[in-house]
Amino acid sequence: MIGLVAATENGRRRARHLARAWPDARLYGGRPGEAVRRAWGECGGLVLFMAAGAAVRLVAPLLSDKRRDPGVVCVDDAGRHAVSLCGGHGGGANALARRVAGALGAGPVITTASEALGVPALDSLGAELGFRIEEGSDLAAVGAALVGGETVRLVSERRWPLGPLPENVVRSGEPEPPLILISDRAADPPRPAVVYRPPSLVAGVGCSRGAGAEEILGLLRPALQGAGLSPKSLCALASVEAKRGERGLLEAAESLGVTLRLFPAQRLARQPAPNPSRAVERAVGTPSVAEAAVLACGATLLVEKRRSKNATVAVGRLPVRGRLYIVGLGPGDEGLLPPLARRALSRAELVVGLERYVGRIRHLLRPGTRVATPPLGEEVERARLALEEARAGGSAALVSGGDAGVYGMASPALELAGEEVEVEVVPGITAAQAASALLGAPLGHDHCALSLSDLLTPWEVIERRLRAVAEADLVVSLYNPRSGGRGWQLERARRILLERRPPETPVGVVRNAFREGQRVALTSLGSLRTGEADMNTIVVVGSSRTRVRAGRMVTPRGYAG
Ligand code: SAH
Repeated sequence: MIGLVAATENGRRRARHLARAWPDARLYGGRPGEAVRRAWGECGGLVLFMAAGAAVRLVAPLLSDKRRDPGVVCVDDAGRHAVSLCGGHGGGANALARRVAGALGAGPVITTASEALGVPALDSLGAELGFRIEEGSDLAAVGAALVGGETVRLVSERRWPLGPLPENVVRSGEPEPPLILISDRAADPPRPAVVYRPPSLVAGVGCSRGAGAEEILGLLRPALQGAGLSPKSLCALASVEAKRGERGLLEAAESLGVTLRLFPAQRLARQPAPNPSRAVERAVGTPSVAEAAVLACGATLLVEKRRSKNATVAVGRLPVRGRLYIVGLGPGDEGLLPPLARRALSRAELVVGLERYVGRIRHLLRPGTRVATPPLGEEVERARLALEEARAGGSAALVSGGDAGVYGMASPALELAGEEVEVEVVPGITAAQAASALLGAPLGHDHCALSLSDLLTPWEVIERRLRAVAEADLVVSLYNPRSGGRGWQLERARRILLERRPPETPVGVVRNAFREGQRVALTSLGSLRTGEADMNTIVVVGSSRTRVRAGRMVTPRGYAG
């Protein structure tokens, strides 16, 4: 919940605007001091419409811990600035300041050093991967070294998809301070150091009915300790389906702050485990629960089964899953590149795509991002390069024009990718949508897309589909209508469509939609001059219902009347 507090009439107007626009915002009325105190206890973020001085005085007595305090943003009376006052990273005030600025047309003011320099903030490094910071880490000292340009060593047994890091962060085997250590081992590093606990450990748990959480935890804690592992890296308890609803197990997971993963007994029975038991097999239908559950999560076993009176535990380490972002860049104009695409690009250590697409977004990449641009036609090679990076525990972005899922890189990449990588596909605006917007509303009713490229599809198949489209009376967007090497296909397509559609059928021809050289033309199936199309053109052919109104191509929503 975001709490809004205003001290002046101008402020109240803006606060009311946000309260109406944001479902998660609430206006706190009454005297500002009193309102801030009430909101403090109830909200994750506060927006104070008052001078910074007044905001500081109201908030100061309430501050206790930057990891738990709400983030505070203050907006001046003219509504020009949204200042992230405190709780920039942990409290989310930097993000809130940007959000407020976006909604009010103000400028965000952010003063935390790492933001200003584009350096990743230490208190959020790896946050999206689920990293937890070890208590007592020297965030301030290592952060100062990072911002000051000093060499900071990054020690990690395994590679994690952290995104590009500043040049002064040097991967190293030597734990020399100032240090960033990523490890699930309970080691005491030299200082100053920030220690991150990745979510890399799973504990398999077997238990009899009624086994208490204390018994399970009493078995698990020493098992971790004995193996030199940090409980903060534990991300799941795993067990057999029959234990769903088992109180002690649920409470143990809750007190550790981890999820519970349950597998059917048959699934565990198929998992060869080092210490099977006949008695367990008779009771639950699998000879191993704790060890088999660890292995079923895909983890390697680090601690074999240990038992107490009513419980067993085993511990394993999960493989690192690198990240593959598949990003559609839209038709060209940067205004049509969604924020999620920008975020993915800024998190990629390697960006792979055709030079003409990568060239558009180079300025959005963080320093240190590597780029690979194998030539046209090498789809599989491009997909392979990006996947290789993700499989090594890194993060890669594969970029396409338009939408990556429409005649783009998503399918070759996902045909090759397995569960070992995490995939995030960011949708983009495809050429048909871009062209449609420029033409009017040709896609207002049922429509489809065909590619006229017979490089990967036999022409007979394309021709059969064209006839089916004509028969079904669908609006059709023709991608790849023509290129240097393919001259006759569009003309042939036009003739096939004319067998079923009148020559007056409206046709939109859009070249370089939303990028330099944009040309939009409206014609008809009878007079379409197919020689003028090229590989930067998309042709939208209307259905029998499509009309031209005031120079705009429109397919009515309904067929009635
Ligand atoms: N993934 C892309 C399509 C790649 S196929 C997308 O979703 O848009 C390439 C074809 O798309 C081109 O031959 C052309 O027909 C069409 N195309 C892509 N961008 C275009 C643009 N900006 N203007 C017009 N047509 C475009």
